[in-house]
Amino acid sequence: MDSFDAYSGTSEPQPDVPNAARIYDYDLGGNHNFAVDRAEAERIHEVVGSGPYVARDNRGFLHRAVRFALERGIDQFLDLGSGIPTVGNVHEIAHRGNPAAQVVYVDNEPIAVAHTRQLLSAWGLQDRVALVDADVRDPDAILSAPAVQRLDFSRPVALLMVAVLHYVGHEHDLASLVGRYTRDLAPGSVVAVSHVTADGQEERAARITEMLARTTTPATFRGHDELAGLFSALDLDLVDPGIVWASQWRPDSPVEHPERSHCWTGVGAVR
Ligand code: SAM
Repeated sequence: MDSFDAYSGTSEPQPDVPNAARIYDYDLGGNHNFAVDRAEAERIHEVVGSGPYVARDNRGFLHRAVRFALERGIDQFLDLGSGIPTVGNVHEIAHRGNPAAQVVYVDNEPIAVAHTRQLLSAWGLQDRVALVDADVRDPDAILSAPAVQRLDFSRPVALLMVAVLHYVGHEHDLASLVGRYTRDLAPGSVVAVSHVTADGQEERAARITEMLARTTTPATFRGHDELAGLFSALDLDLVDPGIVWASQWRPDSPVEHPERSHCWTGVGAVR
């Protein structure tokens, strides 16, 4: 895709500046990305030295976390930073397990917003899948959105924040921000988080930080201990195996080079 006309969201698309949603889409094999995104993705792979594993290992974690929630009987999903509806989105995995599951996507990237709207309408899924065009750093806007209000917060919800919290900079208190989303979750709810890290590759991470600063979505790296601190501050029970590399979280098959995901992941349960 190299042009985009069908957009009607709250912020203007910037097809000449690379963006995380479109780079991620390219890495997952999707076609909702521009030349600048593909070029930036290839430059990042060169620095990371390992191909598109950040996106792919994260997407695998997302799928397994959704299946984990379904196995616990959860049928409501709030997906913050949901991305472009490319290969294997949350509603596809959720509806395979429970066709009646309700999914609310939230993203603020214009292309992701426009494509999600188009696809939901083309698939006729509006009764079970909704999209909120909003910034994850604005919990008031998200929690008061009609689509989110239609979820039943007296029953368990799966709150998904996969590869999105690193777009929240250190100027925000992450625990307070995320706490706004978790504080009203019913017991039995689950919270899935993945977060990019510099742990073990500080020099490369510094170069990636510089590269991402040129995109519309600069990233903030956080370490294993900060993620552990987040779950503890939120008073969530970390489920086994705790905080691990993305591909190590309840894998379906043996894992090699788990560190190549460059993301720590964990799932917490609300008591
Ligand atoms: N969660 C999906 C997954 O793991 O497959 C997509 C992850 S993608 C790396 C990050 C997504 O977060 C992008 O779609 C981007 O537009 C979105 N995002 C970044 N900053 C955001 C913000 N402040 N508010 C809402 N969405 C944001």
